[in-house]
Amino acid sequence: MFVDSHCHIDFPELAGRLPEILEKMRANEVSEALCVSVTLADFPGVLALAESHPNIYASVGVHPDYPDIDEPTVAGLVAQAAHPRIVAIGETGLDYFRLQGDLEWQRERFRVHIRASRESGKPLIIHTRSASEDTLRLMREEKAGTDAGGAGGVMHCFTESLAVAEAAMAMGFYISFSGIVTFKNAKELQAVARAVPLERMLIETDSPYLAPVPMRGKTNEPGFVRHVAEFLADLKEVPLTTLAEATTRNFRTLFSIPH
Ligand SMILES: [Zn+2]
Ligand SMILES: [Zn+2]
Repeated sequence: MFVDSHCHIDFPELAGRLPEILEKMRANEVSEALCVSVTLADFPGVLALAESHPNIYASVGVHPDYPDIDEPTVAGLVAQAAHPRIVAIGETGLDYFRLQGDLEWQRERFRVHIRASRESGKPLIIHTRSASEDTLRLMREEKAGTDAGGAGGVMHCFTESLAVAEAAMAMGFYISFSGIVTFKNAKELQAVARAVPLERMLIETDSPYLAPVPMRGKTNEPGFVRHVAEFLADLKEVPLTTLAEATTRNFRTLFSIPH
């Protein structure tokens, strides 16, 4: 059984096709998926999905790519994260690729999420793009990692160097690979995935974006996480069942879901 640790099935590209998406998960042996919030406005919809489907979990958080929207507070996030179907805080983090200029608000928003994670005990889902140095710095300053008494979490849709992966793993974080690792030009990332131990690895789709090979160009969906798993098993030269079991076990351990 496979698990999609990061998807956005509430996005308009996918929201209207839910029965079909759930059926394709079954057909591809994808037992569970985590639907990740990106704004406070979308949170009720994400939570409703998790409340009405036993194999869909949800998170609460505000993505760094959205300026000028409702800012989360530590107390607000902690209150929302207390719901039993909310298994994580995020997605949060830093993105200096999509946005430029004075991004102090992004860093402040990230700090708020880390504080909420520490207070609620729920792990972080971290998005980082062209900002790995500041991301790691804030994780350390705010004591996000299990090494510093935090709840830890996952570096999602990982595309950074092995050094960044190792720094995050040293703080107790997991590294999640998406369809990007299957792309032909992703040689450096493939080398990183080879080096990340199975005990620290998660898999995801980040659907509706980034469909893996051989579905590249299509609208991505949780069932396609199977292709990410198949690619990584080949890359790491382990049986597919070994990779599936490890990433599913890691998912349940990280998000405190009964095994
Ligand atoms: Zn992201
Ligand atoms: Zn995402």
